[in-house]
Amino acid sequence: MNIFFDVDYTILAVDNSLRPGTRDIFEKLVSDGHKVYIWSGVGIRTAEVRRHKLEDIVSGVYQKPIEDFEAGLVTWGVTVRPDFVIDDHPEIVTCFGGFICRPYYFRNPDDDEMQQIYDTVRQLTSGGRPEHTAFRPGVAGDSDSP
Ligand SMILES: [Mg+2]
Repeated sequence: MNIFFDVDYTILAVDNSLRPGTRDIFEKLVSDGHKVYIWSGVGIRTAEVRRHKLEDIVSGVYQKPIEDFEAGLVTWGVTVRPDFVIDDHPEIVTCFGGFICRPYYFRNPDDDEMQQIYDTVRQLTSGGRPEHTAFRPGVAGDSDSP
């Protein structure tokens, strides 16, 4: 899958610290055959990706549509189809499918959200329906629909 992560309050706290497990889970996802992308509603966050030394495991950095998501992919030149989206804003997750994460505002070494995201991806790709209440199957552009 093409897995898209939001930046602010998804992988970064207000102090720009990285959510615990981010690097580890990105590596596991890539190792499992997925591609990891970063996008943000406030711009192309290449600087943050570099600062946290994630550029070697991230396949692309994009501007994220904040409304009219399908059209926004075209508007912002997102040429890769988001299959699974992780965001603290529910609307875009509901559209494409993915995981509505708890907002990560403040540095917290005990935060385990990244592991829960990974477990949800594993359940989905092994043919099950993820049981986590934060999972959304997605409604837009479903290529499996007739
Ligand atoms: Mg956010």
